Amino acid sequence: MSERLVPLGKRVAEPRPQPAPGAPTVYVETYGCQMNVADSDLIGSVLADAGYARAERADQADVILINTCAVREKAEERVVARAAELGALKRKRPNTVLAIVGCMAEHLKEGLADRAPAVDVIAGPDSYRRMPELLAAARAQHAQPLVDVKLDKAETYEGLSGAVGGDGVSGFVTIQRGCDKFCTFCVVPFTRGRERGAAPREVLRQVRELAAVGYREVMLLGQTVNSYRWPDGDRDVTFAELLHAVATIDGIERIRFTSPYPVDFTDDVIEAIAREPKICKYIHLPVQSGSDVVLERMKRGYTVADYREIVRRLRAVVPHIALSTDILTGFSGETEDDHAQTLALMREVRFDSAFMFAYSERDLTFAAKKLPDDITPALKQRRLSEIVALQEIVSAEVFAAHVGRHERVLVHGPSKRDPQQLMGRTDGFKTVILPSGVGAVGEIVDVTIERATMATLFARA
Ligand code: SF4
Repeated sequence: MSERLVPLGKRVAEPRPQPAPGAPTVYVETYGCQMNVADSDLIGSVLADAGYARAERADQADVILINTCAVREKAEERVVARAAELGALKRKRPNTVLAIVGCMAEHLKEGLADRAPAVDVIAGPDSYRRMPELLAAARAQHAQPLVDVKLDKAETYEGLSGAVGGDGVSGFVTIQRGCDKFCTFCVVPFTRGRERGAAPREVLRQVRELAAVGYREVMLLGQTVNSYRWPDGDRDVTFAELLHAVATIDGIERIRFTSPYPVDFTDDVIEAIAREPKICKYIHLPVQSGSDVVLERMKRGYTVADYREIVRRLRAVVPHIALSTDILTGFSGETEDDHAQTLALMREVRFDSAFMFAYSERDLTFAAKKLPDDITPALKQRRLSEIVALQEIVSAEVFAAHVGRHERVLVHGPSKRDPQQLMGRTDGFKTVILPSGVGAVGEIVDVTIERATMATLFARA
């Protein structure tokens, strides 16, 4: 087998047939969230079944596939710049097919070709089963780009093995697609369609596949993952029931999920987190703003008091639970007082970490149509800097408090900065650098934390 002809996907339960000599090759590049990483694995498995081999570099591939994000304008600008680079590569290798798929393809549809003239295939998140046909058609002709952006509210990719990838220790399983919340700033319901859960038997099959090839951790993915439902006769299988079922699978030691929606934290989900040792005591709980007026304008469906109450209920049953959040600053009409309330909530809750962004208007959304983007870029940047600076202080204190503590760490692999050391994660999702020799990749080891930065813990055995 030549170096270029490796099967797609990293580890799969059933060995795939080796690609035939001369098989077409595909190079996949992924932007955006974990769901896109999982989707790229899904596309990889669809193309592997169609006889494709993976190329390690874009300039070696017959097909270059970019899986994209549309949540922020900056994410789209990066893809446009990358597509221009790949356009130059295509001029040297004119038979190469460039496919741009995912949320940005769904968002811009045919219009994507105006911003990325080199594109040959534009496909949305519900079109991945048809990738082999689309790519075959594009390879046969290089005229107009082929566009397949039909959203399908029944598509959950049942029967496909998307449960590969990750790092061989922690794998992703998508349990829900789409979103029904329609927060006024967010383009996701328009790019990923309506919310739908995957069948529990499919979720469990994929988790078992991960366990069978040595994965120790599974991350269950959904846009509002804790609103998961699956109709079963005259009732619904709930997210809490699914969590308990996943916890019965031997070999899987840790269960995580992202991203939950604050008001969908029902008592049964909180109880599952508290009672089930395999469910990690770490929750990403996106708040977006600390001002009721802004939350109402965002149509988030909760007040600051509601959010505080959810945090209180989580901490009541798991006092040491780790919390992270998302904060969007500079949304339409945000005043200095609204901003001050966000800072005050951050001081009060003391999140372990946060993803913090300045608002950028996305067309199609309610906010783009009805709410003025009236905070100047300079003001957005100033408020963002203040939010980031505060979070850095809190994160540094939270991480420093771990020094001297014993932690159970799942070893994920070599440290990126120093391959002589290992990288692992605590139950609370904190990155830990470990001396090599404390344990093998995939093992859970007991260590003592020796020092900390605001984002990393350092341990000894
Ligand atoms: S819950 Fe709101 S922010 Fe999250 S994906 Fe759905 S619409 Fe977007």
